[in-house]
Amino acid sequence: MDRKNKRVSRRGLLKTAGAAAGGVPLAVPALVTGPEPAGRNIHQRPWWVRTVERPTLGETNSDFQRFGGASIFALYRDLKVQREGEAALKAERAANRRHTAEWIRQKKPGFGLRDRQLMEAGWTVMRSARPGEGLLAWTRVRVQTPAELGVDRYAASPQEMANTVKAAARFYGAGAAGIAPMNEKYVNLRQGGKDIVFEDVDAPAVGEQKFVIPRKMKWVVAIAVPMDLDLIRRAPTALGEGATTLGYSQCAFVVGTLAEFIRGLGYQAIPSVNDTAQSVPFAVDAGLGEMSRLNRLITPAFGPAVRLCKVFTDMPMACDKPVDFGVVEFCKRCKKCAEECPSGALSFDDEPSFRVRGPWNNPGHKAWYEDSYRCFQHWQEVTTDCGICFAVCPYTKAAKAWVHRFVKAAASVAPPADRFFRAMDNVFGYGRQHAPEKWWSEDQPPFGLDSEQVRGG
Ligand code: SF4
Ligand code: SF4
Repeated sequence: MDRKNKRVSRRGLLKTAGAAAGGVPLAVPALVTGPEPAGRNIHQRPWWVRTVERPTLGETNSDFQRFGGASIFALYRDLKVQREGEAALKAERAANRRHTAEWIRQKKPGFGLRDRQLMEAGWTVMRSARPGEGLLAWTRVRVQTPAELGVDRYAASPQEMANTVKAAARFYGAGAAGIAPMNEKYVNLRQGGKDIVFEDVDAPAVGEQKFVIPRKMKWVVAIAVPMDLDLIRRAPTALGEGATTLGYSQCAFVVGTLAEFIRGLGYQAIPSVNDTAQSVPFAVDAGLGEMSRLNRLITPAFGPAVRLCKVFTDMPMACDKPVDFGVVEFCKRCKKCAEECPSGALSFDDEPSFRVRGPWNNPGHKAWYEDSYRCFQHWQEVTTDCGICFAVCPYTKAAKAWVHRFVKAAASVAPPADRFFRAMDNVFGYGRQHAPEKWWSEDQPPFGLDSEQVRGG
């Protein structure tokens, strides 16, 4: 049997969990001395992550088409006016500004001037990049092409090409990278007032009226950039939002540099963060993780605490497969994020469905759809993003610690034990907010990512 796909006997594992629940020490060695997690580098995954032919959550129907709508960030203003009137919108904006300034003056923990500006400055790289420009340029920036060097372009087997690109992605800052086939339905219809079209051309182009993706770009490098767990544990604060802003800037850096690397090998590349296409379905197809009750990706190593980005290319590579490590089954029983969500934005449904919650959702795929209006409205009240759902999720853990590997592995192979592990998560106090002020005197690793977090699963 394939080592990666090997299942621990449910009977043996449940015996372990049951013993622990009854007060007998956990028989942990039986599990952790099994096959050593293979996810120590970008080409392998932990043994308890199984590859599957179809995503565990993602069934589609005929309503599933390219997304022509807008995100809640673009929709919120009009929706607020429609639902509550212009005066309510003005009052909300005024309260947001007033609280921002008051909390800075009051030095409210996590909302002081240094907290807010740490978060704001985290955007710097991302805000200097627009689709088709700067770091997110769709064509070569500076790298010399093989033709200019007078050499052939890079050629190897599809697997070696994939390994090469994944290694480079990790070098530039990816926590995980996988290869998915292009799926035009995941690509948005428009952005920045222009259409996004596929054409039989040799190179990508950004024109006055349209963005052109060459049809020969049949491969997508899906990338997950891990976020700073120490900041996520400070959510919801301005300081905690720093994990998000820095994550986006790191995404722009990773895809911008990786696209230039691919061009330097002699191929075309389009870097993309949240623009141009939906990142999550490509990440699912590339085996980076599973969809969850959050309607977000959960990865084996970093849980939901990632930002996603991708690079489209015509460089032929071996594609990865979706994975199953028990997330969807765990989510059916857990519901911790929905219970802790202060705005009631997350679904309590036992099963995912096709029932969308608003125009911010792209219909036609099965999911636990979220009410982004409620979520974003809450952000206006707290003056920053929130992130409580990320912080409380039992999968949001430093990946390498043995107890977390044990829990994730157990959830992967023994769904009936999920409630027990959710309860354990609460007992250990995970998900409780850490004191924001202490962060400033702690010894922080670069980018807030220590080796416990960025290696292994
Ligand atoms: S960010 Fe906060 S308000 Fe939004 S879904 Fe998560 S917990 Fe709820
Ligand atoms: S908190 Fe629980 S239900 Fe929510 S995404 Fe995480 S595992 Fe799933």
